[in-house]
Amino acid sequence: MIRLNSRQKEAAEFLYGTACVIACPGSGKTLTMTRRIANLVKNHGVSPERIIGLTFTRNAAQAMREKLYPILEDLATRVDLATIHSFCYSLLKQEGKTFEILHGNEQLKFVRQVMKKKRIRNIPVGLIIREISLAKNNIIDTDEFADLYTGDETMLKIADVYRLYEAEKKKKLLLDFTDLLFESYLLLKGEKEIRQKYQDSYTHLLIDEYQDVGPLQVEILKQLINNHRKSSFWVCADDCQSIYSFTGASVGNILNFDKVFQNSQQFILDTNYRSTPEILSCCQRLIDHNTKKIDKVLRTKNSTGAKATVIDATNEEDEALQLVNEIKGLTESGTYQFKDIAVLYRANSLSRPIEDGFKQHQIPYHIENGSSFYQRHEVKVLLDYLRFINNPDSDDGDDALRKIINIPNRYIGKTFMTGLESFSNKRNVHLFQGLKTMPIEVPYLKKFIKDFVCLIEPLIQDVAQLEPAEIIHILREGLDYDRYISDDDIPSPDDSKIENINQLQLVSAKYKDIPALINYTETFKEENSNNKDGVALMTVHKSKGLEFPIVFVIGMTEGVMPNKQGEIEEERRICFVGISRAMNLLYLTYPINYMGKNATRSRFLDEILED
Ligand code: ATP
Ligand code: MG
Repeated sequence: MIRLNSRQKEAAEFLYGTACVIACPGSGKTLTMTRRIANLVKNHGVSPERIIGLTFTRNAAQAMREKLYPILEDLATRVDLATIHSFCYSLLKQEGKTFEILHGNEQLKFVRQVMKKKRIRNIPVGLIIREISLAKNNIIDTDEFADLYTGDETMLKIADVYRLYEAEKKKKLLLDFTDLLFESYLLLKGEKEIRQKYQDSYTHLLIDEYQDVGPLQVEILKQLINNHRKSSFWVCADDCQSIYSFTGASVGNILNFDKVFQNSQQFILDTNYRSTPEILSCCQRLIDHNTKKIDKVLRTKNSTGAKATVIDATNEEDEALQLVNEIKGLTESGTYQFKDIAVLYRANSLSRPIEDGFKQHQIPYHIENGSSFYQRHEVKVLLDYLRFINNPDSDDGDDALRKIINIPNRYIGKTFMTGLESFSNKRNVHLFQGLKTMPIEVPYLKKFIKDFVCLIEPLIQDVAQLEPAEIIHILREGLDYDRYISDDDIPSPDDSKIENINQLQLVSAKYKDIPALINYTETFKEENSNNKDGVALMTVHKSKGLEFPIVFVIGMTEGVMPNKQGEIEEERRICFVGISRAMNLLYLTYPINYMGKNATRSRFLDEILED
């Protein structure tokens, strides 16, 4: 059992009132939070049901429970450890609210219907969803939203959608993901009795990763805090790891903590237990370049290790190959196992070359909290198109056609498909033959099918002469696929569907014909790409709170890390989160040619390597 140092102990033994633990990565914030829960239950007679511990991901909640188990045994299962979303979900259910959740794709469809009713086109649906969610996360209701954007035509249209979207959801008893929080907030704020009930039932509130809690979440927490003498609100945070401005979180959250929560006590943990001094100085040099932050000095008593290794690669394929070689070297000696290693990147699309390299050289891996590149929806759709074009009059072609016929949306419904299936069955032909000969009454369907056939048929005829890359190029143009993808893209801080498609375009150039490409991509269904004991691949965002003996941060080039669109200090914090996951060895790699274009190495690399 780890013995806490004196500062951690003080923070863990804090009993009643409000406290904020501010500390750098790896200084034991999460550990201290766990110990505080244990201390309350074991030494102060607090019943576990009275404690709620909020974390950022389900995995983190689970990890915390596992740490509590050896200390509290069965009592550990009675502490409420959850994400704020799942906590709010339970709260709403508990209070007898009837609702269904509107998940990703259904939400897209739903918003699209609302747009249609409002006759609004030309605004990407993804953008609308992002704006609405951002507004809600900042507690801006429909009226305030419209006021805020007087004179801005696009935003006023979004305000229109926002209003009807809210009304329609209400009618159908639907809640989107942000609504779980928003409705809980309204309920707690509006109903004194309910608020009182929750305040009475939870006397101790603890929050991990508080730097990424947005304004709406802060308001929910405020409703839950009670003023009993024997209660507490305890958070831990690192302002330098705030990487979700995307949902309205900001560094100001921590900087203003003592103004928002008066009479709060502050604890500073200053010893890092995770990393070697060499890795820590990389972190320090990098973050020193940010201005908006609480100055902290990163210290450790850990013994010295190796300096960070910088690898420059000619391009991303070479980057992957060098990774393979390093990883082989590290694991073959027996000192390290594959599962000790993580490869971190700024955007999801960067997994493609690494996955290719790992597959080719039999390095087992898994994608943490995500799917393998070739299994991602926008990539798979294009591969299904290729599969269809390659062999339309076959069972495989039928299977592919069923998958692609309505992507992008051609308003083809179940009735049409049943009709097509039985028409083709009766004539004993494959679906594509059926599609071409079946009489279609509905004018718009007729047009969509004609366009589809006109685009696809020449490709089928010329398939022997065309290379996969050319076909993909023609499809992207002909289907207006990029627009479809970006319209459909619910924006995310670490995933770009267009970039995934660009990667597919790039990789497809290596294959002379469709079967070769398809066969290759099919191999990613195998176990090697989903091996929990393999190397962990993930975006930096997904790596929050985790640690690995060996970390590779890849793609350290301008435009990637820092990302083109990002605000530079937030980009630097993202890089900081990435490198601070490393315990023993840190590798920073960058290709000087990225996606076929010359690239310059990241300014962050220069900052890290300053001396
Ligand atoms: P992050 O900001 O990245 O979330 P953190 O501050 O939450 O980091 P932890 O994950 O709690 O840090 O701890 C980092 C590592 O240091 C863990 O492996 C933990 O077990 C270890 N550790 C923390 N405190 C001590 C201690 N007093 N003695 C030995 N090891 C410790
Ligand atoms: Mg932590």
